[in-house]
Amino acid sequence: MTFEDLGLSRKVLDAVQACGYSEPTPIQEKAIPEVLARRDLIGIAQTGTGKTASFVLPMLTALESGRARARMPRTLILEPTRELAAQVEDNFERYGANHKLTVALLIGGVSFDDQFRKLDRGADVLIATPGRLLDHFERGKLLLSAVDILVIDEADRMLDMGFIPDIERICKLLPFTRQTLFFSATMPGEIRKLTERFLSNPVQVEAAPPSTTAANVAQQIVKSRREPFEKRAALRSLIKQAENLTNAIIFCNRKRDVAVLQRSMERHGFNVGALHGDMDQRARMQTLDDFRGNRITFLVASDVAARGLDIPAVSHIFNFDVPTHAEDYVHRIGRTGRAGRSGTAVTIATDLDKKYVTAIEKLIGKSIEPISVDADEERSRAARGRGKAAKGGDEARTNAKSEPASSKSRGRRSRRKEPQTNDRGDSKPVVGLGDHVPQFLLRSVRIKEPAD
Ligand code: AMP
Repeated sequence: MTFEDLGLSRKVLDAVQACGYSEPTPIQEKAIPEVLARRDLIGIAQTGTGKTASFVLPMLTALESGRARARMPRTLILEPTRELAAQVEDNFERYGANHKLTVALLIGGVSFDDQFRKLDRGADVLIATPGRLLDHFERGKLLLSAVDILVIDEADRMLDMGFIPDIERICKLLPFTRQTLFFSATMPGEIRKLTERFLSNPVQVEAAPPSTTAANVAQQIVKSRREPFEKRAALRSLIKQAENLTNAIIFCNRKRDVAVLQRSMERHGFNVGALHGDMDQRARMQTLDDFRGNRITFLVASDVAARGLDIPAVSHIFNFDVPTHAEDYVHRIGRTGRAGRSGTAVTIATDLDKKYVTAIEKLIGKSIEPISVDADEERSRAARGRGKAAKGGDEARTNAKSEPASSKSRGRRSRRKEPQTNDRGDSKPVVGLGDHVPQFLLRSVRIKEPAD
């Protein structure tokens, strides 16, 4: 099947051609005709399957008739994170190159004023995170009564992030007659319930059965000792022995480990950036931009920060930690092998991770290929580095030792306890041997200088 067969407008087809896409991906093939037929839709697809274009392309076709009015957007796309929202905006720019549409991005961390101005001019497409959208609505700057198409993207992520009550509120503010497109990588019970409440007679399309990993990604697992420095040595060795590595995302389970690993890799001379939830919006965007533009080769990231990011050509994924939620494994390795390219995902596991690895293998329905890595070289290189640092410290300590003892310490060393005198008859308590101290113990002695 070609894009021409899907019912998209000429302008959209020209933009798709300019992007160099030769044929629609399976989710695009299934979803686009349904969206153009104004059906409500549940799309079960993870990022990397081309799902963004599966709603953006038919939306662009639909938006060719009609005009936006001030403060009354015609379409609304909800995204769980600012990065995903910005990525969808990029998609509108790319696929909408032949359209004159106004796209407004309502995300946190950006000034309200610019966003007000865009809304006032009239937005055809509003891309928002739920919290910021409700903020604008409550300030009276936004009317949702003209929204004709609603997209809820990455619904399972919305659930993880606690956005479901916001989504429910937003759905109630929209016209009943709207078309709703709902995308999620997985379909847990709460998500299914949400679709039952807010979608009308939806058609369900699936890119691949939920929780499967792409066939073009080689998945490997390597054993390491538990200590973080051992894992770091294993990671460096894996990177050095990797074939065809152009860039990589390295996942940690905790954001504080992201910072530690980034610093360590920097010290070892890697070109590395970090992405975690505590960074402000500008810093995150900058890091992502640098990574996309190949100014950064390695990106150390946490799950929340990296979920759903569209980075077209990542050759390798390293799981520095085994994810404790098996589904995160699927999301992580979905960052490579995108749009048909091949990729490699290597997981570093310790003996503490056995049950998580078992859960992952059960979820993906296959076992991960064990490989070995020779981390000796990296371990001893790091030990030499530590040795040097320690030697520097020892020298400092040695110097401190050779300093002449202060008069105070000398005084302390030469001071000896006065012998007890015979106070028999008075009320003083007898200490030690009292009167019975043998004479030889009372003789003065020379004390050897102590070592410190
Ligand atoms: P997504 O799943 O929407 O995050 O898209 C993943 C990547 O696939 C993006 O970089 C898109 O530019 C790319 N892509 C989308 N549709 C196609 C297609 N039909 N052919 C080739 N690449 C595509």
